[in-house]
Amino acid sequence: MISGIVYIVGAGPGDPGLITVKGVECLRRADVIIYDRLVSPHLLDYAPFQAERIYVGKASSDHIRSQKETNRLLVEKARQGKTVVRLKGGDPFVFGRGGEEALALAEAGIPFEVVPGVTSAIAAPAYAGIPVTHRGVARSFAVFSGHRAELETRGHGDAETAAESRQASADTLGSERGPWNVERETLIVLMGVENLGSIVASLLEEGYSLETPVALVRWGTTPQQETVVGTLGDIVERGRELYPPAVLVVGQVVSLRERLKWFEDRPLFGKRILVTRFREQRSELSCLLAEQGAEPIDFPVIQILPTEDNTPLDEALALPHDWVIFTSANGVKAVWDRLQAAGRDARAFAGVRLCAIGLATAAELAAHGLHADFVLARHIAEAAVAGIGDATGQRILLPRADIAQEALAQGLRQKGAFVDEVVAYRTAIASDPTSNDIRAMLQDGQIDAIVFTSPSTVRGFFESKVQSPKSKAPIVACIGPVTAQTARDLGLRVDVVAKEHTVKGLVAALVDYYQKDGSRGLEKAAEGPTSSVPAPT
Ligand code: SAH
Repeated sequence: MISGIVYIVGAGPGDPGLITVKGVECLRRADVIIYDRLVSPHLLDYAPFQAERIYVGKASSDHIRSQKETNRLLVEKARQGKTVVRLKGGDPFVFGRGGEEALALAEAGIPFEVVPGVTSAIAAPAYAGIPVTHRGVARSFAVFSGHRAELETRGHGDAETAAESRQASADTLGSERGPWNVERETLIVLMGVENLGSIVASLLEEGYSLETPVALVRWGTTPQQETVVGTLGDIVERGRELYPPAVLVVGQVVSLRERLKWFEDRPLFGKRILVTRFREQRSELSCLLAEQGAEPIDFPVIQILPTEDNTPLDEALALPHDWVIFTSANGVKAVWDRLQAAGRDARAFAGVRLCAIGLATAAELAAHGLHADFVLARHIAEAAVAGIGDATGQRILLPRADIAQEALAQGLRQKGAFVDEVVAYRTAIASDPTSNDIRAMLQDGQIDAIVFTSPSTVRGFFESKVQSPKSKAPIVACIGPVTAQTARDLGLRVDVVAKEHTVKGLVAALVDYYQKDGSRGLEKAAEGPTSSVPAPT
């Protein structure tokens, strides 16, 4: 049998956006993924649904036994002809034991590739606003392990090892560079939290001053990032409550954080937000939320299906109309599909006026070379009716979802229009492999907010029957009054309704909500008359 291959891939430090393009490509092709504790779970979503996912995270105490087992597992899976991704936190060759795994593969004659990753040694300080080198402040940086086992096997204390290697590098680089200068080099220590006291003591012994700025960055690059800043004199006391994983940074560069701190200052930093959406749509909303510092969790509650019988839509498209009103981007796509099936194109709308409700709808029309004559930013039926103007005698085509609102057609008919209301697509509850994780997060109160962008996503969410305990209910944010009303009708308490009914408006409303009173959401939810998230029916 042809042997498989093992890709030893760096997953990056935590932020799922910090994996490399090549790393993602490997995951997309994986039959087996063997991953560690510090790997972002979101990355596993890149892998095919049927790929085998094996967790080999371990406590530091049983490291050696587990490492052997992991090595054996890699060889075994590859020998079965599989494409194996060994996904490791940060960079696989920076204290990741990736070298040992590669050696085991080399010995067994298994082909492998190494895909480097963004190491936490540099990325965690960067997300804390600390550049590891800076002109005039630090001209180099060195990365050390603060792990006891590592120190003991070398028979050195951490600082001694550091001093030796710095001396060696100073010697190599020659006198031009000058000797190691504690004021001008940055020291980075991984796995150093547990031995923080002895690491600090060694550095002081070695000549570092008590005033040397120090930072500990915990869970760097993730929404849980926490940074403690101090000096060598007080970091042990200040870092008492800080548990691993954290990166220790020692040196003058730490002082730059005051001005360069960017990540933790964003308005939605640390908020975990469930974004309910259509499976088919890429979530612009999630990107915008992430930009504001939130951790968006995509929850595709609805999927789009073609109608069972296309005849009504095909027949309607063959008739002349004065107006076609599109209420969603999905409606545009569905109509376009049917036009194409009939061998027609954009000329089908020559002389027809087009109305788009929602900016995304207008954008979808534009993608097909169609310019909407009338665009309504707000998803409100009355406004659309008013916008059409004199509807008397007008023939209007309204391609819609199977569960659309009736108000629009009714309003138009009342104004004397002939309305062809045709079902263009169906929506169905999406079956989603990640919903179990989402269920668990809601139950544990780990979701801060849920956002809804349409009545159908509210219904889809409701029918997915995920729920959270009353005391930990997330806040509910809706894009507009119609969506909010649907949520209320289903028994949800709505905390935020966007003033501008667009995804941008929704993000702005959430930012506003948290800036006005950050803690209000959860407390109010705890006292609220109804649970924010429905109990199962
Ligand atoms: N190969 C990894 C390091 C593995 S050793 C890399 O290149 O990043 C594990 C140590 O890395 C932890 O003890 C901690 O010191 C550090 N670490 C990993 N991820 C981290 C994160 N998100 N924030 C802070 N420290 C992290």
